[in-house]
Amino acid sequence: MSCIFCRIVEGEIPAEVVAREPEVTAFLDVQPLADGHVLVVPRAHAACIEDLEPPAADALFRTVVRLAGPVREALGAAGTTIGVNNGEATGQTVPHVHVHIVPRWPDDGAGTIHTIFPRTVKRSLADVGSAIRRAVG
Ligand SMILES: [Zn+2]
Repeated sequence: MSCIFCRIVEGEIPAEVVAREPEVTAFLDVQPLADGHVLVVPRAHAACIEDLEPPAADALFRTVVRLAGPVREALGAAGTTIGVNNGEATGQTVPHVHVHIVPRWPDDGAGTIHTIFPRTVKRSLADVGSAIRRAVG
């Protein structure tokens, strides 16, 4: 087992664990973007969101919801930015699904999720909506 997050889940590698549940482990990012930067990972190895089995997805996001308030409270933060880099092309460096919970404060210098995109939209909303509805089936 070479996946670093699988090894953290199994307790083979030490981590600052903040919540351990049967199907989900949450621990502090060792390269935090801010104090209290938490990673929430499913026990079952899955590279991307779309690889998660529905029960694992349910458990993962239940834990994200459960931790968001306490993380904010523990750090005295005004809010949290919650996000997933989903796939290598997005900058996902560990191919095991992980949800970032990053505490935020007014004037902390970080932008919104919108600021990471250059807004290179080329297609109409109707065209894109139609394509996605066809793919969903
Ligand atoms: Zn893994």
